[in-house]
Amino acid sequence: MSDPKSAEGAVLALNAGSSSLKYQLLHPDTEDVLADGIAERIGEHDSSITHEQGGESVTEVRALPDHRAAVESAMAFFADRGTDLATVGLRAVGHRVVHGGRIFHQPTLVTTEVISEIRRISTLAPLHNPANLIGIEAVRALLPEVPSVAVFDTAFFHSLPDAAATYAIDRGVASMHAIRRYGFHGTSHEFVSGQVAEFLGRPVGEVNQIVLHLGNGASASAIAGGRPVDTSMGMTPLEGLVMGTRSGDIDPGIVMHLNRVAKLGVDQIDTLLNKQSGLKGLCGENDFRTITEKIEAGDAGARKAYDVYIHRLRRYIGAYMIELGRVDAITFTAGVGENAAGVRADALANLQNYGIVIDDERNALRGRYARRISADESTIDVLVVPTNEELAIARQSAEVVAQL
Ligand code: AMP
Repeated sequence: MSDPKSAEGAVLALNAGSSSLKYQLLHPDTEDVLADGIAERIGEHDSSITHEQGGESVTEVRALPDHRAAVESAMAFFADRGTDLATVGLRAVGHRVVHGGRIFHQPTLVTTEVISEIRRISTLAPLHNPANLIGIEAVRALLPEVPSVAVFDTAFFHSLPDAAATYAIDRGVASMHAIRRYGFHGTSHEFVSGQVAEFLGRPVGEVNQIVLHLGNGASASAIAGGRPVDTSMGMTPLEGLVMGTRSGDIDPGIVMHLNRVAKLGVDQIDTLLNKQSGLKGLCGENDFRTITEKIEAGDAGARKAYDVYIHRLRRYIGAYMIELGRVDAITFTAGVGENAAGVRADALANLQNYGIVIDDERNALRGRYARRISADESTIDVLVVPTNEELAIARQSAEVVAQL
């Protein structure tokens, strides 16, 4: 077993968003985290990076013009603390890649050909895949001896049944342009659904479950016996639930209307729906803590945003209960799901006729641990399970390099 304090045999997990880079250095077997950090507002005037290692946390406001600069800054933090990632004996670097298109269904060792393919499918995720690629290329330049593994956000949903994955549009157009429902947050849905089975003490193949990943991005999935049967995100991470800044489901006719009548161009509509909609579009705030405070202070806009959010969430929960037929567990995860007890209570209020009863005291407990929040008489278990995408990325990367 690896020495928990030494970086030898550890995995560096990198999670590049459109303007952020999260990273963690950890041992995938023991789950020991040696360091973690986040670079934020990359490409903006006030970018910053926070690095935590050996019980010490440092935040520096510094110019980070692109993701390459963020990777270099992170490496410099490691080097300053005596951890030279090039020579320390890392097992792998695991990269979250948002879109795997129709090609990538498994965590994949990064080669020049794999980089070309990820670049080719970047048109499906123009905000994310290019950032992921810059991270991959920066790491390959800085750590040429360490294998890089790409872990795709779409992979878990690759086996969605055709009826759930297909849009009802012209088949020829859909096929030519790779238009189908891919689903996202797959690493989280797969990890959490596995944790749920462990918590229930049952094989994952026997559990029918709904996972609600509610963070700044949000998605729901229906999983029957370990296999996804539906998920709320589609060709892009814009479909589905109301999110921090994304609209989720809208009538596609709105896009044409905005173009024809409001004279907005495609990039303006993209920005509107991805960055200025969702909770932020409805009430000016995308952080649930602020929204809750505003509701308590009597703010009608915040109340409406909350009601729209809960309405959409309940609609998906209801649909997935019907799709699954039998549901053993409904699980909340990610920033909002793990922390906002009120959202959990409202999402599942008045469903006792369907076998769902929340226990208010259990629901009010806080902490980063898996727990049951349903009452003993509830026939469906309602759980809170913290997600850990970095651990899942590190584990999958270690499995890939173990087969080399
Ligand atoms: P994530 O994308 O999973 O990091 O989740 C981020 C979101 O979680 C934030 O935008 C907040 O809205 C929400 N969040 C974090 N902590 C809390 C909390 N204590 N109560 C309510 N919402 C929270």
